[in-house]
Amino acid sequence: MKKLKSIKDIDIHGRKVLMRVDFNVPVIKGKVGDNFKMERAHPTIKYLLKQKCQVILVSHLGRPEGRRVKALTLKPVFNQLRMDLPSVSMKFIDDKLNDRINEKIKKSRAQVILLENIRYEKGEDKNDKKLGELLGGLAEIYVNEAFAACHRALASNVAVAKYLPSFAGLNLENEYKYLTRALKPKKPAVALIGGAKIKTKAAVINNFSKLYNKILLGGGLANTFIYAKGYEIGDSLCDYDQIRKARILLKSKKVVLPVDVVVSDKKTRRKIRVVKIAKEKKLCNQDEQILDIGPETIKLFAVEIKKAQTIIWNGPMGLLENKSFRHGTLALAKIMAARSSGRALGICGGGETLYAVTLSKMGRYYDFVSTGGGAMLQFLEGKNLPGLKAIIK
Ligand code: ADP
Ligand code: MG
Repeated sequence: MKKLKSIKDIDIHGRKVLMRVDFNVPVIKGKVGDNFKMERAHPTIKYLLKQKCQVILVSHLGRPEGRRVKALTLKPVFNQLRMDLPSVSMKFIDDKLNDRINEKIKKSRAQVILLENIRYEKGEDKNDKKLGELLGGLAEIYVNEAFAACHRALASNVAVAKYLPSFAGLNLENEYKYLTRALKPKKPAVALIGGAKIKTKAAVINNFSKLYNKILLGGGLANTFIYAKGYEIGDSLCDYDQIRKARILLKSKKVVLPVDVVVSDKKTRRKIRVVKIAKEKKLCNQDEQILDIGPETIKLFAVEIKKAQTIIWNGPMGLLENKSFRHGTLALAKIMAARSSGRALGICGGGETLYAVTLSKMGRYYDFVSTGGGAMLQFLEGKNLPGLKAIIK
């Protein structure tokens, strides 16, 4: 297995470090809603401060697409960071990135400097050479601690690395280590995949159908497979343009679909019933939706999870945002947690999956919770991530 260039392999004492982080966190009414992703960068920040480095942090927030969209300022993130690391001196520099910013940084004695949203700069998403050079000019060492952004080639993770010796942050090293293990799983290996759309996950399912013993499907994504098998699913979430792909994936004997589902009317979401997926082809009326996996499916998936030595989970099993339809997700989150960190290697990750992990309160029992959404999926597809290239040994 290829290894990443670690900050622990070099003498970094007293250096000025430019560190790309992913502080793209939910901001609600000017406050950070969930600092989970930020906390995951703390060990690296603390390590660098212990080595007497000055740390210049670069992050994006939302999609301002090269414009200075006020609502997407990193100021709330800066306030959160100050609360989380109260003994560290910090400065927020919200200037446009130009040659003058270097003067400002040179003058500042703050241990940690946070720059304004890097996506305010047009060059960021274009992996612009000039922006990379400018960023490179701000420090002596580059550290990538933004795994969740590694599936994109950015000025702040590709271009910049041409100008500075580049290394992986401690969390990124772990992401790489655990997800690499997930791709060479101890058998039996089980993947639990849910969420909204097949489009974003078909390649992962396909890769797992080669590497894993069972792929358990739930959530909106499973609806498309259920429909592809000829069932009527009413007004359920379904990728009707992905039916062909679903049929191809279904050819694998390893793919396991729900055997029962929770159905409700769309209007009130109060008329809830459990429907078996059996001979009767009609699961829903026209005004109804499938919103969760049923109890028999939980049991069936639990049996597979309990046999596994490797478990990977991405995507909720139902409409998690509504209390009535998160039972399947929470039940499996618990069963998986009970096996992880010991009997099996348990890894999970993904955008809404992180919310599910928070709701279930099971986070600390897993071997690893990935901070990557799209990046994790692309890694698990077996693809090389552009953001990792510069920091692989
Ligand atoms: P992740 O970000 O964890 O990879 P996705 O983005 O693929 O997950 O999907 C998460 C979303 O899928 C959640 O908002 C959840 O409400 C929705 N979802 C899951 N199952 C259903 C369903 N049966 N009907 C409607 N939405 C669903
Ligand atoms: Mg998502």
